Amino acid sequence: RCVQTSTRIHQTLVESRNARINAFVHLPNDPSPRLTSIDGPLPGMTVAVKDNICTSGMPTTCSSLMLKEFSSPYDATVVKLLRSAGAQIVGKTNCDEFGMGSLNKYSVHGPVINPFGESEGRSAGGSSGGSAAAVAAGLCDAALGTDTGGSIRLPASYCGVVGLKPSYGLLSRWGVVSFADSLDCVGVLAKDIESAESVFDSLNIHDPRDPTAATQRIREKASKSVLSDFLDSGSLSGIRIGVPTDYFPEELHPSVVNPLRTLLIDLRMHGASIVPVSLPSTPYALSAYYVIASAEASSNLARYDGVQYGLHVETPSGSDKRKLANVYSHSRSRGFGSEVKRRILLGAYALTADAFDNYFLQAQRVRSLVRRDFNRVFRAPNVLSAHSETNQAGVDVLIHPSAIRTAPRLDEGVAESKSTLDSYLQDVLTVPASLAGLPALSVPVGLGEDGWPVGVSLVGQWGHEKTILNLGKVLG
Ligand code: GLN
Repeated sequence: RCVQTSTRIHQTLVESRNARINAFVHLPNDPSPRLTSIDGPLPGMTVAVKDNICTSGMPTTCSSLMLKEFSSPYDATVVKLLRSAGAQIVGKTNCDEFGMGSLNKYSVHGPVINPFGESEGRSAGGSSGGSAAAVAAGLCDAALGTDTGGSIRLPASYCGVVGLKPSYGLLSRWGVVSFADSLDCVGVLAKDIESAESVFDSLNIHDPRDPTAATQRIREKASKSVLSDFLDSGSLSGIRIGVPTDYFPEELHPSVVNPLRTLLIDLRMHGASIVPVSLPSTPYALSAYYVIASAEASSNLARYDGVQYGLHVETPSGSDKRKLANVYSHSRSRGFGSEVKRRILLGAYALTADAFDNYFLQAQRVRSLVRRDFNRVFRAPNVLSAHSETNQAGVDVLIHPSAIRTAPRLDEGVAESKSTLDSYLQDVLTVPASLAGLPALSVPVGLGEDGWPVGVSLVGQWGHEKTILNLGKVLG
């Protein structure tokens, strides 16, 4: 009875905090922990799950009216693995609709308020804003998010928590609602690197149900060139850390550069070599990302037709009820929010015969250039690329600010078109690693001039999660 009472008190505290920050969109009614494995590597760890990842027994709405009534009959592979590792799934977290957004304000459940200073009404970042806020507010030990172009790293940076976007293809996407399949990655938000790492380790298993999952052979091949000994020695001597000179665009706020500068001095004192590197395709990455991600989204979201999938809206009286196209257009007009519609239109246009060469193919070319840039600067070869070789003069890790600024206020009064562009700009530093499928870790490194959290990102070669996690521990 005593345990039951304290669990209930805890649940009440979670509910009242959540009422202010809106991080969870579903908290299970039954506050008593579900029986989980006590032998697993995550016994009793409380983990929240972004609402675009399927969970049996809880809704999976993708923060969209289109899926407001949807509950999955099964768990996504990552959720199943969490449960069998002993973790307790404590609820579903708010996000931008279908993962599209950078500020977690495009949600049928309303925006997430950054818990770092609730009264200021700042954004928690998006699209995994609920996951980052739940961790930052201490409502769970860790949370799953998804990152297509920055959706884990950006909210991690705004909320002052750790965010890991793994290499594309390592964590299963089976049971994860698709936004843009060639970019979507499941990842982890946590209060410290050790927690993020233990969740990642429990999920880092080949899943035969995910056709894009990296094979066991490729995983093993990549792990051979991972650096890990530096943690025991306490010295970073011999480690080469690259600072991409192209990651300091004019939009970058000076207050996020100072913590990075201090960090670089520190890393050099630990023996690391700090090397300026150039990734010249960076300025084109953002445009390429928005074309590719929107094109894939327009195709993926075609399934929500109001008949087989998603909200069904009856055709208004007077219209021809026999025409399925009517149901389709009415259901989609009602079910999708403005940002999702914008992506569908942009993506469908990029895929039309007239625009295909100039937009979609061009964006794919830029994507290859972005990949090539990374492969040229890293010391270790990319095991996914036939042309990539060891480059002894290359770097082991790249370091750059996670975001161009600290968390913006949700009500920053700007016109709709300007605000759309502004929110696309938030991803300028995160999309290159997404286009190249590389692992990236955002670590909180202090506060900016306005007293709000600043994050720094470490990017590694494909499959080198351990290198960035270990280096992240040195930073922390
Ligand atoms: N903000 C980016 C977008 O809106 C990235 C989203 C994401 O990573 N899911 O597309």
